[in-house]
Amino acid sequence: MKAVTFADFGAPSVLKEAVVERPIPGPDDVLVRIHAAGVCYHDVLSRGGKIPGGAPNRVLGHEIAGEIAETGENVPAERKGERVVIYQRLYCGQCRYCLSGRQDLCRNSRVLGECGGGGYAEFTCAPARNAIRMPDGLDMKFAALAVCPVGTSVRATLGVAQVEPGQTVLITGAGGGLGLHQIQVVKSVNAHAIAITSSKEKAEIISQAGADEVIISPDLKFSGEVWRRTGKQGVDVVLENVVSNTFGESLRSTAQNAIVVVLGNIGAKRVEIDPGLVITRRIRIAGSGNATYKDVKIALHLLATGAVRPFIGAVLPFPRVSEGHAMMEERGVVGRVVLSGW
Ligand SMILES: [Zn+2]
Ligand SMILES: [Zn+2]
Repeated sequence: MKAVTFADFGAPSVLKEAVVERPIPGPDDVLVRIHAAGVCYHDVLSRGGKIPGGAPNRVLGHEIAGEIAETGENVPAERKGERVVIYQRLYCGQCRYCLSGRQDLCRNSRVLGECGGGGYAEFTCAPARNAIRMPDGLDMKFAALAVCPVGTSVRATLGVAQVEPGQTVLITGAGGGLGLHQIQVVKSVNAHAIAITSSKEKAEIISQAGADEVIISPDLKFSGEVWRRTGKQGVDVVLENVVSNTFGESLRSTAQNAIVVVLGNIGAKRVEIDPGLVITRRIRIAGSGNATYKDVKIALHLLATGAVRPFIGAVLPFPRVSEGHAMMEERGVVGRVVLSGW
């Protein structure tokens, strides 16, 4: 089968089209013909050798939509032809986290693409339980984004923060790939979205995503403005996609008993917290990461109903994935890069 792989870590140009062996499904697996695959910033880091423990010579990509082409002997044969997305975490299904529905926390798991067998190929194999049926009529390019960008936004917004109708949610780095999807997830439950961006150019797209208010804050001193706009009440939830230069201001923007969800680690710097502020306001600080299986189901529903419209900045044929990596590295694309067609 055709695939895109890389012999060494390096610049985007190391990604080359190749012919590799088509995987054979095990008894509990399905073989999926890949129709669309999202390109994630994580792939860019993997290709550059910036993810510890990785090796070259593998097929990257964990954002996959396609149709079941073959079924293993223990999988109902009727599933052949089913249109699916692949839940990217190959979880054990037996640990206490998996059994409580938190496959994202499974410590006996690995992520498709990080161990090879990823989405930059004509086919991939996955356990049948990881192949999640997508709603009828959903575009494969949209569906490919269900597991990672949209699913991660669902996890943070509805899973960790449990945003409710009428609450006020502050989103930092709102013009980024996560922020633009989080705004839409927040709006899907009729909460109020206040978006923060340091860039005037991104205000337009943030409004298009459905933010109720956009605060352009080049110096990232936004808490005074948030305070003013919320009638000195503060926000119930902060979705922190930036953290390094924003965390103090985010904490100062909170209402009593607010939750601050940490997703971003741009700059990978330590931040200070004021314990007095955390105690007096009873602020809860929580990390968030990959989607659970359930989050992906919710993401697919939000995509199928149009509540979330993914921002796709470029659609490229699979052999041109290196161009997608270059665009992302140079920040030359707003929204996601999706691969479709050979
Ligand atoms: Zn991803
Ligand atoms: Zn597990």
